[in-house]
Amino acid sequence: MIITIDGPVATGKSTIAKKLAASLGYIYFDTGAMYRALTYGVLKNKIDCTNTDQLKEYLNRFSYKIRSKFGEKYYYVDGEDVSQQIRGDEVTSNVSRVSALPVVREKLVSLQRELASGVNAVFEGRDMGTVVFPDARLKIFLTGRPEVRAQRRFDELKEKFPEEAANLTMEKVLEDLNKRDNYDSSRETSPLKQAEDAYLVDTSDLTPDEIVFKILEFKDAKARQK
Ligand code: C5P
Repeated sequence: MIITIDGPVATGKSTIAKKLAASLGYIYFDTGAMYRALTYGVLKNKIDCTNTDQLKEYLNRFSYKIRSKFGEKYYYVDGEDVSQQIRGDEVTSNVSRVSALPVVREKLVSLQRELASGVNAVFEGRDMGTVVFPDARLKIFLTGRPEVRAQRRFDELKEKFPEEAANLTMEKVLEDLNKRDNYDSSRETSPLKQAEDAYLVDTSDLTPDEIVFKILEFKDAKARQK
């Protein structure tokens, strides 16, 4: 069974997907990490994204691996552990531009479908319920008030990158978050949007446990509908 979780930046998708997967004994896939990893490879190899042949050539040799150690996921691009780098500023400010390219989506969507074959999994991202797994048994779309999401993202950056984030302000975080969401929602290929049959959950005033509980209730309701 596949469960999809989509939504804009800092709605808690990863935290919820991880907890939900753990409570069900499912595998968890963060597809944002995949787009980030590809963006890292594109930047590192100085791939000119306006040159489709060059980009396609890189996509053909792009090697992406996920390893789990003590419950944490580590991501490898062309053999290099990039788990830290893909969360940094350089990748974050380029990822939406790279993710909007149709050839990039074609490649990563097929990789995501391969990963889903024969497993029970929670997939989180932007187009999981709309494009990648339109027949998923349960679809969730998370939202949240912008100021709550910006505060979450601010706290996360301060914790993970204390040096880089030393002069960071809430205004800047909110501005970056809105910019990325607008870009992701307005692109032509696979824009961020709620699938018609997705359950909507506003995460602003709920704890992760409360959100997971709600999703498990939706899952039970779906099972009863059969
Ligand atoms: O989820 P996260 O914020 O790490 O995603 C980083 C970026 O990857 C998003 O802003 C979006 O541009 C892209 N993305 C996407 N489709 C997905 C997952 C992420 O376009 N399924």
